[in-house]
Amino acid sequence: MVKENLEEVEKKIQGALKRAGRSREEVTLIAVSKTKPVSMLREVYDAGVRCFGENKVQELTEKWEQLPQDIRWHMIGHLQRNKVKYIVDKVELIHSVDSLRLAETIEQEAAKKGVTVNILLEVNVANEESKFGLGVHEVLPLVEKIAKFPHLRMKGLMTIAPYVENAEENRSVFRTLQKLSVDIAEKNIDNVSVEILSMGMTNDYEVAIEEGATMVRVGTGIFGERNYDI
Ligand SMILES: *Cc1c(COP(=O)(O)O)cnc(C)c1O
Repeated sequence: MVKENLEEVEKKIQGALKRAGRSREEVTLIAVSKTKPVSMLREVYDAGVRCFGENKVQELTEKWEQLPQDIRWHMIGHLQRNKVKYIVDKVELIHSVDSLRLAETIEQEAAKKGVTVNILLEVNVANEESKFGLGVHEVLPLVEKIAKFPHLRMKGLMTIAPYVENAEENRSVFRTLQKLSVDIAEKNIDNVSVEILSMGMTNDYEVAIEEGATMVRVGTGIFGERNYDI
């Protein structure tokens, strides 16, 4: 089942790219595997996917230990500062940096381990009270501060769009994030890149791709519904 789901997602990604006149290499699919068993991740791995996203530190490190080394792990969930040390040397990218304090902790833990950590800043574009993330106007001031951190590499922006019935309703959210990345790029800040736009989930990744997403985070569309009761 997972394999058919993956084929369906791949087809939709290609359709959206075609409508936008973009090529397949421009978008990375991240299989969001939170709550799902290692056996299912293995199926997805065997189908060729190498990027997996998790939102909890302990779950990520447990799966990291059990699965092949060439998987690129993405931390996509809210990150507590006291848990940063467990993942700085295990993840390809942290999508969810939303404060100077968290960035400072990542810098310190990365320095201790002698690694450089790639990060995205999470932006709460729609200003939803229930969500983490920086307000649109808080992004540039934070970028200017973290640009000076030697063990952090700012790679771009991430957003979680609101849950909507019709994905079209999120088009303006994605467009706002894309414009913000252009504004940051124009500042030409040393050590800062905005090449990555992580936006789009199962319900809206096609619209996100049409609006410039370079990473889409798809969970349910690949693995099926999550069950939080077990
Ligand atoms: C769970 C999650 C996703 C995947 O959501 P689906 O709707 O299942 O595709 C993507 N991004 C983040 C940050 C998540 O927490």
